[in-house]
This record gives sequence, structure tokens and C-alpha cells, in this order.
Amino acid sequence: MTAAPASHWRGALAPPAGVLDVSRRLEDAGYETWCVGGAVRDAVLGRPSLDWDLATAARPEQVQQLFRRTVPKGIAFGTVGVLDRDGVMHEVTTFRRDVRTDGRHAVVEFGASLADDLARRDFTINAIAYRPATGAVADPFDGVGDLARRVVRAVGEPGERMREDRLRALRAIRFAARFGFAIDSATWAAIVASGPHLGRLSPERVREELEKTMRQAPRPAWALERWRAAGALATLAPALDAQPPEAFAACDCLPPPTLAARPQRLWNRMTAPWLGLERAEVDRALTALRCSRQEVRWAADLAGRWHLLAPAFRAHLADGAPPPPDAELRRWAAACGRTLAAPVLRLAAARFAAERAAGVPAPGAGAVRAVYRRVVRIAYRDPIEVADLAVDGGDLAEAGVRAGPLVGRILRRLLDDVVEEPGRNTRGWLLDRARFLSSQADTI
Ligand code: ATP
Ligand code: MG
Repeated sequence: MTAAPASHWRGALAPPAGVLDVSRRLEDAGYETWCVGGAVRDAVLGRPSLDWDLATAARPEQVQQLFRRTVPKGIAFGTVGVLDRDGVMHEVTTFRRDVRTDGRHAVVEFGASLADDLARRDFTINAIAYRPATGAVADPFDGVGDLARRVVRAVGEPGERMREDRLRALRAIRFAARFGFAIDSATWAAIVASGPHLGRLSPERVREELEKTMRQAPRPAWALERWRAAGALATLAPALDAQPPEAFAACDCLPPPTLAARPQRLWNRMTAPWLGLERAEVDRALTALRCSRQEVRWAADLAGRWHLLAPAFRAHLADGAPPPPDAELRRWAAACGRTLAAPVLRLAAARFAAERAAGVPAPGAGAVRAVYRRVVRIAYRDPIEVADLAVDGGDLAEAGVRAGPLVGRILRRLLDDVVEEPGRNTRGWLLDRARFLSSQADTI
């Protein structure tokens, strides 16, 4: 095992006290223990990390015996969650090697060495280890060098590694997008060769990759374009494959969905690429990816509103067009409803920004911002939903409108009248109008 030369990043290899305690306990019992994976990579990159995973020579049952508080995280894969004295959990995994893989699942074997364990990892940058007990660094595939060269490279023979687990194709793209790295050419060739086989992956794993990409990549469009170039979209989301680059670039123009942010930020980034598709198509595709019902509805509803309103946005917000009147903005707010009015405009702003950046004529940022503020104010000030009307179905029945679907149709018509002119939202005006509409029942 080659020890990497000491250099500036060594000081960053500073796991939290809880991790050091767990490692010391294992080492004192005679089990070699190393920090591995993402946290070591991030430390070398100078990025702080919360999850420091440990790999150890101890078997899962030995880990369980050594610590008072453990959680069986994935015993079959050798992973035990160990709670430190502050109750924070750390994953401790027995050194392992793969004995069999089928592109989806691995069967692992214990009794392996650190060298075996690092050799089964996906990319060189994820196969660096640090041993707190001695300060040693193990970097058999020159992951530190690849971090300095800013490149994602498969451990070992790329084609073989991708065949073992097709998810690695998507992971490579995600890590490159997250850190702004290039993808090594042989690794890229293996990713492209994987494209047609990605259908073997479970939809849950694919969704998770997409979601992590949206969270972690400062510019997810780069990753989506790599998915397209590798044939991953053709296999996994054919409806997206034909979308223009601006549909993906819109993701880059939305604020990053940090963990502390409201979940809508993530959903908006997940929605942006699909805006050009029909509502039902978005519903179908995201349901197939096992997105939550809530997420699917959010995306499908927004796509539906986008189809309805994008032409009006483009016409009224074009360079040189006069500011749209309040009545127009009320129509937009009414078409969206209070919950979706702001998100539709946020997505529209992102999409238009992406179009302009691509040289496609689209409304300017200033016009969209101004209208966003006005629409939000209007949506909370003016009547824009049936529930805001000064009358309800019961009032219409009393006024002589016969029960049944006609009531709902008349209420919708009354709302249209009120959206045109909010001053009409009085019982007197609405009931008069309802009686008239009721007398014309055949034509409405
Ligand atoms: P993140 O910060 O996104 O969690 P990570 O590198 O910690 O990044 P994980 O998915 O948590 O990624 O995996 C932890 C480690 O396990 C990786 O660094 C890598 O060494 C290894 N690993 C994970 N998934 C695979 C895989 N599909 N094939 C091979 N090794 C993998
Ligand atoms: Mg991790």
C-alpha cells in the first residue's frame, strides 16, 4: 500500500471526536480501522463533511460486541451503525470484497483486507483511506492525484466495473458535476457503453441519483446533458431525451436545494426539465421513477400551468411590451391558484433566463421580476379562487339555481367575471348574475 506524500491537505484529515473514539476502541481491540469514502475525499478537497464512514477488520458481530449502542444498518453488507457518546451514529463496515455481481446487486465476502476493500470501490477519488491510529494514508489508485487533476476515473478496468454495477455510470456523472471535474476518457467510454443497459437499475436508485444530482451539482444541466450523451436519458426517461438544452439549463437558474431549504426548491429543480411535456406525460414519467405522490403532483400541475400560460407570459413580457394590466395578472393567478402562482413564475423566470443565455429571444429578467411581485400581491389581495367569491353553492340554490353540475359551472363563470373586475364580488351583483346565467343554462 503506497502512502501518499504529506502535503497541505493532511491537516484537513480531522475526523470528529466521536469518529476518533469509535476508531480508537476498535484499534485497541486489535482491529485495524480506516476512515474511507466520501469524507476522506472531501477533506482532501478542503470541503467539510459530516459523515465519516469507517472500514474495519472487525466482523459485524465483533463490532456489535464492542459497542454498547449499535444499529444493524446492513449486516449482510457488513455495516453496523455505532452511536458515539453524543448519540451520533457512524457507519462501521467490515472490509469486504465482491464475490458476485449482476449489474444491480453485489454479494460480498468478509475476511478481506483494506486493499481488497478499496479495490471494490467505484472511483479513485472515493478509494482513499486514512487511519487515525497511525496517521497513514492509503491511496493505491492515486485518488489524491485525480483530485488534483480534477478527474473522475474508475478504479480498475472501467468497462468491467460498470458491468458489475450500472449505477456507477450515473454516479460518475454526478461526482463530476458536483465538483466540476472532467471524466477520464476510458471511464466515459464505459459510461456510454452502459447507456442501453441502465434499464436494469431499479427506478428507486435512478430517482435517488437524479435527486442527489439536483441537490449536489451547482449546475445540474451539465449532468443531464451527460445523461443524454451517454444514452441514459433514452433508456431511463425517453420523454426528456428530446427536450431542448434550455429545459435542462433552467435547473441551473434555480436556487440550489440545500438541506435546510424548503422541499419545493428540490421539486422545482426536478420539475424544470419536464416543463415542455404534457401534464399526463410528466405524471407518468415521474410516477415510473417512484417519485412521491406529492412530488409528482407538483411537477405535473406546474407543467400543466406552464402549457396554459407560457404563451401569455411570452407575449406580455416581451421586450418593449407595456406592463400587463392587473386583470391579466389576475387571470394568471386564477389559472394557477394561490399555491402555484409564485412557483410557476419562478420556473418561468428560470426557463426564460436559460433561453436568453442560449441566444433564444425570451422575456427579460427585469420584466419577469416585476410581474412576479405584482402577481404574488394580487394573488393574496384579490378574489382568484371560487372559495373567494362572496357567494357559495348554497346561496345559488336559494336563488333558484337547480342543484347539480350547473352550480359548479356558474360558480366558475362568476369567478371569471370577478377576476375581470373584483368590484363585482358582492352578494347582490353575483346573485343577479347567477339568476341570469341560470336562465341561459343551455349555453354555459
Ligand atoms: P456522498 O457525499 O454523496 O455521500 P460518498 O462518496 O460518501 O458521497 P456514498 O454513496 O455515501 O458516496 O458511498 C460511500 C462510498 O462507498 C463511496 O465513496 C465509494 O467508495 C463506495 N461506493 C458507494 N457506492 C458504490 C458503488 N455503486 N460501487 C462501488 N463503490 C461504491
Ligand atoms: Mg456518503
